[in-house]
Amino acid sequence: YTKDSARGGYRFYAAEMSSFIDDRLALESELRRAIETGELEIHYQPKVDIPTNRVRSCEALIRWRHPTRGMVSPMTFIPVAEETGLIVPLGEWVLRQACLQVRHWIDTGMSPVRVAVNLSAKQFRQANLPAIVQSALAEAHLEPGFIELELTESAVMHDPEASAQTLATLSAMGVHISIDDFGTGYSSLSYLRRFPLDKLKIDRSFIRDLMKNPDDVSIVKAIISLAHSLRLRVVAEGVETADQLEFLRQLGCDQYQGYYCSPAVTPDDFAALIQRLRAERPELTEADMLRT
Ligand code: C2E
Ligand code: MG
Ligand code: MG
Ligand code: MG
Repeated sequence: YTKDSARGGYRFYAAEMSSFIDDRLALESELRRAIETGELEIHYQPKVDIPTNRVRSCEALIRWRHPTRGMVSPMTFIPVAEETGLIVPLGEWVLRQACLQVRHWIDTGMSPVRVAVNLSAKQFRQANLPAIVQSALAEAHLEPGFIELELTESAVMHDPEASAQTLATLSAMGVHISIDDFGTGYSSLSYLRRFPLDKLKIDRSFIRDLMKNPDDVSIVKAIISLAHSLRLRVVAEGVETADQLEFLRQLGCDQYQGYYCSPAVTPDDFAALIQRLRAERPELTEADMLRT
């Protein structure tokens, strides 16, 4: 494998790759611009308590309303933001906005909800993360119990000793911590036990075919049992049907998130949704919300 063949290889791929590379470069510079021009929005998806059917929290999900490309999925631009390091300022913006949004909802009389914010691995490794979280909370005059941070298995298992320290600091502040997309990465069970976690979120890929795939049933049962034996709550992602929800209820799953309740919606639509649900379900007090 010589330099020449590498160069030849490069030439060979150049044509078909260039549109992809150009696109990626364009995406990067456009993303930098989007952060300043207000093209980025945060939508909120409810997380529902299965036993009570009440919305206790929501997840902040970033959206990019691009002037010519239309809605760009975070699956497209989050990886680019991660590669370029843009994810750090971007993630901080999401965290601050989400805190201010919860403050605004409280001030306008909505029943209180906790907000979950996704943290990328790079953000999680920033030494000043706890200070940024602290400052986002202070800026919005929120108690730490209003915030939940979602981390993937790879983010926390990359350097478990360092993660343990960061998680201990965040958890001591009173911030909740979830492992996102659980089951798709590699977790060391001994670290799972040692980390101060609150929740495991079962990845959507195990929920999708739950009603027809016995292997998925086994995996979901195993995750629920593992979570409960470690005194963690368990959340199912991507619940789309009444059957899936009923089945998860029977398995003892604590919460769910998914289109069956609602996709992620704008802040105003989220407030309207909560208002509508409140009419049907007992109201949640702030103390209730902070308890679990
Ligand atoms: P995630 O954190 O696992 O978020 C859940 C994803 O599943 C969201 O996709 C949500 O819209 C989608 N979803 C929820 N319920 C259903 C359902 O019933 N059916 C289906 N088919 N999908 C459902 P979304 O918003 O496209 O986000 C994709 C990923 O992008 C997120 O996965 C997360 O990893 C990342 N992401 C989004 N916002 C942020 C952010 O602010 N910061 C970081 N670091 N990552 C983010
Ligand atoms: Mg998430
Ligand atoms: Mg997830
Ligand atoms: Mg996921």
